[in-house]
Amino acid sequence: MDELKRTDPEIFKLIKDEERYEIDSIRLIPSENYASKAVLEATGSILTNKYSEGYPGRRYYEGQRYIDQIETVAIERAKALFKVDHANVQPYSGSPANLAVYFALAEPGNTIIGLSVPHGGHLTHGWNVSVTGKVWRSVQYGVDRETHRIDFDLVRDMAKKERPKIIITGGTAYPRLWDFAKFSEIAKEVGALLLADISHVAGLIVGGVHPDPAPYADVITTTTHKTLRGPRGAMILCRNAHADAIDRAVFPGLQGGPHNHTTAAIAVTLKEAATPDFKRYAVQIVRNAKALAEELLARGFQLVSGGTDNHLILIDLTSKKVIGRKGAQALDKAGIVTNYNTVPYDPRRPFSPSGLRIGTPAVTSRGMGEAEMHQIGKWMDEAVEKAGDDAALAKIAGEVREMCRKFPAPGLPTL
Ligand SMILES: *Cc1c(COP(=O)(O)O)cnc(C)c1O
Repeated sequence: MDELKRTDPEIFKLIKDEERYEIDSIRLIPSENYASKAVLEATGSILTNKYSEGYPGRRYYEGQRYIDQIETVAIERAKALFKVDHANVQPYSGSPANLAVYFALAEPGNTIIGLSVPHGGHLTHGWNVSVTGKVWRSVQYGVDRETHRIDFDLVRDMAKKERPKIIITGGTAYPRLWDFAKFSEIAKEVGALLLADISHVAGLIVGGVHPDPAPYADVITTTTHKTLRGPRGAMILCRNAHADAIDRAVFPGLQGGPHNHTTAAIAVTLKEAATPDFKRYAVQIVRNAKALAEELLARGFQLVSGGTDNHLILIDLTSKKVIGRKGAQALDKAGIVTNYNTVPYDPRRPFSPSGLRIGTPAVTSRGMGEAEMHQIGKWMDEAVEKAGDDAALAKIAGEVREMCRKFPAPGLPTL
């Protein structure tokens, strides 16, 4: 980045500082990852210069001979990998992708049903502060108070009573598998469409360690930057019956020109995700999450639903010395990056809730395995115990740094 260094040393330095932080810390935010060098190169390419409103072969701008080919490659790879009829790779991110689906398939005021945010759903599944909870009539389901698993009796009763246009599965803080077959049964019973938002688990689905929504969902949305390990972006995958409505909702319904540098990077991501290496990666993500959960349980941490089936663990810190934001801050000082989160039926406020949300996609990308997960669990316990003791936390951060340097992160230089 010699040119950037010369023209804008301030931004150059901040990028370099972030780079070092990403190398020297254990990043347990479950929605984050390390994109490969190839993905970063495509994202940073001259394709950012191009305008190409429309779709391949149907553009409103001349000069699309290469852009059309790039987008077609991305679409074909998405269709093959996820076994779907149709793919739209233009959504700017996960939130606009979901908005496009509701805009395409429901009238304003129609009912949608999704998992509530305090129980692990996403804002764009109809939460009240999101536009998706204002334009559409949103009713929200939750998890069982005891098991912390989706309460399917509740979902079925709700669906029968509310007669939704769309039922949404998927979330951001649910540590168990999504039973798409069961959701599809309920959707069929009430004549609703089923949307599977697989943003968090797309990479696990590709890797065969999570159920596949393709046989059951009418529409699938996914971000491309979480377990899938691509650039920031999203895709909408669907059956042919909905293809035109979805495409029109994305453009011209919600967006203008697609981000062609992102489209190219999504194509690269999908090629990487189709390899046996990626399958091994997905298997290891889950193994690592189970190993980390085991260590945390052994050290007296309470886990929502008692453990994990996927890449994500939701800790209830109530049994520990520090709670919520204070716990996440102590861990950050120890070089372990997590995010504080509500737990189901949380008595505390969202600004400093009882929980911590962690996940293994990023550490697994660095090649860390079960032994490292046990070590991380041990450090987490120490850091929470030593909250407020900055010298002790700095000592842990030093040990964390030493281990991190042994596991070079994809896309980043070695130090
Ligand atoms: C991350 C996420 C989104 C939103 O993605 P953004 O790219 O942050 O807009 C939507 N749904 C789910 C389930 C997610 O995890």
